[in-house]
Amino acid sequence: MSSRTDSICTTCPYCGVGCGVKARVANNEVIAVEGDTNHPANRGQLCIKGANLAATTAVTGRLKQPQIAGKPTDWDTALDLVAGRFNAVITEHGPEAVAFYLSGQLLTEDYYVANKLMKGFLGSANVDTNSRLCMASAVAAHKRAFGEDVVPCDYTDLEEADLVVLVGSNMAWAHPVVYQRLAVARELHGTRVVVVDPRVTPTCEIADLHLALNPGSDIDLFNALLTHLSDNSHIDHSFIDKHTEGWEETRDQADISITQTSAATGLTEHDLVNFLNWFAATDRVVTVFSQGVNQSSRGTDKANAIINCHLATGRIGRVGCGPFSITGQPNAMGGREVGGMASQLAAHMDFDADSIERIRRFWQAPNVASAPGLKAVDMFQALEEGKVKVIWIMGTNPAVSLPDSESVRRALAACPTVVVSDCTAATDTNVYADILLPAQGWGEKDGSVTNSERFVSRQRRLLPPSGDAMPDWWILCQVAARMGFAEAFNYANPAQIFAEHAQLSAFENNGERLFNLSHLAGQTEDEYDNMRPNRWPKARPFADARFSTPNRRARFIPIKNKPIKNESSGQNTGMLLLNTGRYRDQWHTMTRTGSVADLFQDSWLPALQIHPTDAAKRNIKNGDVVQVENHLGHVRLIADVTTDVKPGNLFAPIHWNDQFSGRANICQVIASVTDPISGQPDSKQARVNCRSIEAPLRIRLATTQGVSAETLDKAELQFWARIPGPGMTFLELAGTELSPILSLLDTCDMVTLEAVEHFRALGRIADQPAWLLFSTGAYCNLPSWRHLHALLTAETEDWRRLSSTPPGEVDTSRCVCTCFQVTERTIQQTIMAGVDSVAVLGETLSCGTNCGSCRHELQKLVNKHATKKLVAAV
Ligand code: SF4
Repeated sequence: MSSRTDSICTTCPYCGVGCGVKARVANNEVIAVEGDTNHPANRGQLCIKGANLAATTAVTGRLKQPQIAGKPTDWDTALDLVAGRFNAVITEHGPEAVAFYLSGQLLTEDYYVANKLMKGFLGSANVDTNSRLCMASAVAAHKRAFGEDVVPCDYTDLEEADLVVLVGSNMAWAHPVVYQRLAVARELHGTRVVVVDPRVTPTCEIADLHLALNPGSDIDLFNALLTHLSDNSHIDHSFIDKHTEGWEETRDQADISITQTSAATGLTEHDLVNFLNWFAATDRVVTVFSQGVNQSSRGTDKANAIINCHLATGRIGRVGCGPFSITGQPNAMGGREVGGMASQLAAHMDFDADSIERIRRFWQAPNVASAPGLKAVDMFQALEEGKVKVIWIMGTNPAVSLPDSESVRRALAACPTVVVSDCTAATDTNVYADILLPAQGWGEKDGSVTNSERFVSRQRRLLPPSGDAMPDWWILCQVAARMGFAEAFNYANPAQIFAEHAQLSAFENNGERLFNLSHLAGQTEDEYDNMRPNRWPKARPFADARFSTPNRRARFIPIKNKPIKNESSGQNTGMLLLNTGRYRDQWHTMTRTGSVADLFQDSWLPALQIHPTDAAKRNIKNGDVVQVENHLGHVRLIADVTTDVKPGNLFAPIHWNDQFSGRANICQVIASVTDPISGQPDSKQARVNCRSIEAPLRIRLATTQGVSAETLDKAELQFWARIPGPGMTFLELAGTELSPILSLLDTCDMVTLEAVEHFRALGRIADQPAWLLFSTGAYCNLPSWRHLHALLTAETEDWRRLSSTPPGEVDTSRCVCTCFQVTERTIQQTIMAGVDSVAVLGETLSCGTNCGSCRHELQKLVNKHATKKLVAAV
């Protein structure tokens, strides 16, 4: 790579918004990133995760060399072994005994090669992806209604709509840049926003109406909407007659009264009627749905209940209208395009005889899979039952992210051969790998991704590979060649793979499939290298009201109102309903964001949101260590007592795992209940108990020495969490005795300043401060890690002064606005000095003016402290 400074346009690897990123690279280092002002998805904006991308390109924690049974080896040996194991299992047990488990983090070219190898040459469709956990229900619903998995909207529709309904979507945190686009549109045009979510989330900041419905009652709500539209003559009969089928039966099955809906959803009739009237009276309506809809045992039905309302009003295929599924992962859409899921064949084709034959001719493939394969949850169950004997996991962490993670770990332990290709060395899944293959990470890879609005964008190489890491497509091609398929996998670069992918989308496609990249199929390598974001199809989907079904009519899907199934309930009496989701600054299982200290500033612990009524019943106080448990296992989290969740409901983040905390992987208590159509797990409604754990000793500690997860596990602690910091590690510990904690630090000479229970201590190595420990009996009195960092990096004598500074003189509060490093105390002081709005806080301190993700928090602080100021004045 060049030694001068280069500015390279690429794409953010985190969420389905698919923001364009401009990276400045010098001396093989990413020195800065900024939003690409020319990218249509983000127009120059980035959220806090995207803005911190440069920090994730550091080579620490990378897997750099192939390994067999934990021992380093060379590529040839590792690839020969992978190919040999796959060949041997297929020969002895047939193709159904092998499986690939892929990731929405892979590039389209990687996905294409994996899908082609498994479905065209190995003869099995056992190729599924972690996107199954994210949007499989939306895919199934699109196929049922439209005949093809096509998202009918784009982000500009959110700006053109007069009403935006956000269902099961905490967009402010999960898709921050799109949220900002909507927030700006609302400011400019007065767009009405309705949030449908059992929880109060940061997205509610822009809600004109928050419908905090009972978990799982979405179908009742949207069937009530369909009933209301029909009963009050808000139906587009012309559209229904000319372009759809199944209306009468769908209308009849949806029938539900306002009173019944109110009882089912827990919403007041007043709020319900408001929503129904707003939807009925507004021509331009977009209904966004995301994981809150998809991750359900009736996710497909829920999505179709939403789509039914848009078909009934003809609000689809037009500007500012439509049902809009937003994907979680950066390239979930690219995976859908190539068919990298067990339920599709390839390029939006299914397992019908014509498609199988077409694929056979195009790929010149000897052994095309003839039926769908194992979906994610079934795949790991087959592993545990011994039906699948070799699995190759690429770029994902199923030991953390799949439901009932203990059974997934048992399955991995039982499988004779587990191959994992990843860019990260230490993950909970890598522990089970017989063969580890180092894959290139973001910044090293070259290829393309497709975002939620169908823009295909280039992800470009910025840096040389770390160690021996190789692109995933290359690893797959090498294995394919060793299995005897060299000719079909003889690609020299991703441009050739993309060209073939585009050609397949166009092959014998006479308009039956809207997914058609024919305009990109003849690109030269230079044209591919310089490809600008490119959306398919060129025209707005369904603008001509012709759908991808055989008779070109959209299908209404009759959806019955019936109770939600949830088999994780066991003895339901007295149990609470656990919802799961994301934090603002973390991504998935933290394999990338977990290495960036700044991304822990807002939330650094896995917290359990619990309503004050439920907390009081269980004698749980804010900050307590709590155990969440059911028949599957238990996890330990820190209590956050809040009215943001309804009584009877809990919420916990999905991110934490064994690398970052002792036992906080929430999927341990999520049952493997799936939607019968999409196979997507129900990750939003686990039945659990929870109780407080005695842990009187609360310690926050900063150390310049590494402390491994293994060491922390061995200490007899009630809770631990580990946070990486600049040049140091921060630990949050809770226990009953001090000695196990001090044993973690026994290499240091310790200096004790005060007595146990409320003491501070500094440890030195070779007379240099090596760790600093604060202990109190209460969680809330502990200093922030920013304070610990300042102390441990202070001049030796200064730390004594700083650590004994009376409370109030040092700003120990947490950082609310990570973009501009504005702390809670500064914000509080500014409010008390007279600032009474988020807008003026932004003008004064800049907080909330970049990614905007903290605006909800800022509003809460304004409400809290402005009221205090008022009371003080009275
Ligand atoms: Fe990346 Fe999503 Fe943030 Fe955009 S909104 S910068 S794609 S994480």
